[in-house]
Amino acid sequence: MTDLSQDTLAIHAGEEPDPATGALTPALHMSATFRLPGFGPELFDALMMGSEEAPYAYTRWAHPTARVLEKKMAALEGGEAALAVASGMAAISAIMFTFLQAGDHVVASDVCYAGAQELLGIHLPRQGIAVSLVDTSDTEQVRAALTPQTKIVYVETPANPITRLSDIRALAEIAHEIGAILVVDSTWASPCLQRPLQLGADYVVHSATKYLNGHGDALGGVIVGPKAGIHRIRKEALVHLGGAMSPFNAWLIARGLATLPLRMARHSQSALVIAQFLEGHPAVKRVFYPGLVSHPQHDLARRQMSAGGGMIAFQLKGGLGAAIAMADKTRIITYATSLGHARSLWFYYPADLYVDAAPFLTPAQKAAFREWIGDGIVRLSVGLEDPKDLMADLDRALRARTAKGRLGPVAYALLKRLQSSEKPAAPDKD
Ligand SMILES: *Cc1c(COP(=O)(O)O)cnc(C)c1O
Repeated sequence: MTDLSQDTLAIHAGEEPDPATGALTPALHMSATFRLPGFGPELFDALMMGSEEAPYAYTRWAHPTARVLEKKMAALEGGEAALAVASGMAAISAIMFTFLQAGDHVVASDVCYAGAQELLGIHLPRQGIAVSLVDTSDTEQVRAALTPQTKIVYVETPANPITRLSDIRALAEIAHEIGAILVVDSTWASPCLQRPLQLGADYVVHSATKYLNGHGDALGGVIVGPKAGIHRIRKEALVHLGGAMSPFNAWLIARGLATLPLRMARHSQSALVIAQFLEGHPAVKRVFYPGLVSHPQHDLARRQMSAGGGMIAFQLKGGLGAAIAMADKTRIITYATSLGHARSLWFYYPADLYVDAAPFLTPAQKAAFREWIGDGIVRLSVGLEDPKDLMADLDRALRARTAKGRLGPVAYALLKRLQSSEKPAAPDKD
């Protein structure tokens, strides 16, 4: 099927009519276990997961509903094999805990999804794995951080929440020079806008909760990469650590993939129009959108992405107060975490919480991060609604002046001062 376009693969890859009933829609197999083959080589294959498509034995290891999703994702990313897991974080941790051991070293982006940053900053060092967090948009910083122990270079591009990009092709070359692998979290682009494996990356991970599913109704994660490596992650991370995807979620996400190319085209078209609108809006200080010429890495975006995607980051002239007012006034765009859904969502990151207090960043890294985030940044996930309605909603909310918006920042500052002045409890006398 490799000669087919993504539009066609999204619908047909991994699917065939049910041999028993002729049903065209893949079945949802809600079974935790499977009848085992009789005594013989097939039984051993099933129980030891000896081969990549061993007979099904237990749903945590592999199941037919996930296999449809895995085949579709391998086809869409142009990879040999894929593995579906319970969430995006399950995908990232599965890679880390399969390929790393005490004494190894990871170079990773200093700006990425908060859960990934904490996995890298807290849990890996606790297991004796060293981690260097650097600005991966600067390939020289990555090169300088490599050691003979470096096994993984990990980047997110575009990076959550600021849309900073990393050059996948250049980083793959640098990682491979010392025998490390490059892992790319491509959640924000989806395979329709960016194909990291074609640019030299070894593994792609996705939070399938976002664009792959697209409807905001299921958590999931996917890893795509070489057959042998994916099989190893399945045998180690799924069998030993758990984190399997439920059949129902696999069914929903595979179903969502059929419309992924259409959705990504619409998300990108709408986001470009909205990013341009925001750039001209009097309440907006600065907009970061890879599809805008003003994005600091617009050239790289044009080289490695086929469109700008659905995620926009922007600074407000009115800072926190404007964000508080906006949260009360958006009617269509919902103030909520997550992204990549049909429904538009937005979230505000105050710099003092997300940058100044970040435990893993050096002062120089905080300064570089602040360049993008200002006093705080809005992350807007542009959904599939009519962009005219979205712009009207944004315009009304951006112009809103509310009492809460005026008082909120004062109350927030007071609360922070109270917290920092709280004295630690007196030590026990005895
Ligand atoms: C949401 C997100 C994740 C985590 O995915 P979950 O499915 O919530 O575990 C990882 N990376 C990126 C870029 C994300 O946006």
